[in-house]
Amino acid sequence: MGVPYIDLRVGYEDLKAEIDAAVSRVLAGGCFVLGENVEAFEEEFGRWLGGVEVATVNSGTDALYLALKALDVGPGDEVITVSHTAVNTALAISKVGARPVFLDVDDDTYCMDTEGLERARSDRTRAVMPVHLYGHPADMDPIMAFAGEHGLAVIEDCAQAHGAAYKGRAAGTIGTVGCFSFYPTKNLGACGDGGAVVTADSGLAAKIRSLANCGQGQQRYLNVYKGDVSRLDEIQAAILRIKLKRLDEYSDRRRRAAAVYHRGLAGSGLTLPVEREWGRHVYHLFVIRTARRDELQSYLSTRGVRTLIHYPVPVHKQPAYADETGGMVLPVTERIVKEILSLPVFPEIDQAQLSQVIDSILGFVQENPDCLQPPS
Ligand SMILES: *Cc1c(COP(=O)(O)O)cnc(C)c1O
Repeated sequence: MGVPYIDLRVGYEDLKAEIDAAVSRVLAGGCFVLGENVEAFEEEFGRWLGGVEVATVNSGTDALYLALKALDVGPGDEVITVSHTAVNTALAISKVGARPVFLDVDDDTYCMDTEGLERARSDRTRAVMPVHLYGHPADMDPIMAFAGEHGLAVIEDCAQAHGAAYKGRAAGTIGTVGCFSFYPTKNLGACGDGGAVVTADSGLAAKIRSLANCGQGQQRYLNVYKGDVSRLDEIQAAILRIKLKRLDEYSDRRRRAAAVYHRGLAGSGLTLPVEREWGRHVYHLFVIRTARRDELQSYLSTRGVRTLIHYPVPVHKQPAYADETGGMVLPVTERIVKEILSLPVFPEIDQAQLSQVIDSILGFVQENPDCLQPPS
């Protein structure tokens, strides 16, 4: 019996009766976009985050893109972010015509190395876009202080961090805006694409709602902005409302699975994820590191354990970004992408599956004692 990297069917089966009924209600109701489920989900997600405005959109990428657009970031502007992330973070910046300026990441949390902020700043810098990668928050205090000092917006990429917290505050509620993805594999996942921008600024939320709906203002067919079409649909919103009620439980289950990995792999010589004292990790991914990553991955694969690499090629090394980043060196990013490996973790993963992953890894470590050398 193998261990899948993720199995979205199990989560659906658990909620099948409720999801099928909700989807049927939407279909029978005849309202498929801009309806009561979207409105209710925005209210419920905002309340779950501790009281913020929510503007739903069609994807996490669009959440980042429309947040930048609403903040009037555009051609000629620069946005400081990280290269060690899903390429979508940078794509959103490129889409408004701005230039991403890439910082290296912290060797422990794999999030933005805030030491580099001042050096990355120019008179074109308009915003900072930290990513709460793998479900661990970026160190927000230095970022907020830097942004405050220079009048910059802070756009939190929370696509992997639903339920993560920084010093007790929910990820997404610390910066100017927080941007979430509801892609099926995320911690709160729809059965299709979806995303949301959250903010305490109700004017900004209203502008993003308008931008996502062609730029229409209060009055129908009267456009105040040259907007986009990026709406969450009613079926996805209905499904998200059902899953939101379980999100805290899903986070707890991810944390329990991570605790099992931590116990099972302690002393293996592999580098395990850290949870800093100021952060709550929601383990969107459980990422280990070893200098013998490729061999470990194929060893696990022959034992039926599926793993992935997030991400093998950092954005500044992507062919699509070669024209902007040629010659750029980010030492930590470039080293860790050769050593990282994402183990299976999802709310429904069971003890037998976790044990199989752990036993397989320990088998590899036993056969390859030089694995005990700390990574380069
Ligand atoms: C998934 C992801 C996105 C993009 O979300 P989509 O809904 O797929 O557009 C952006 N940033 C990060 C860090 C992600 O993991």
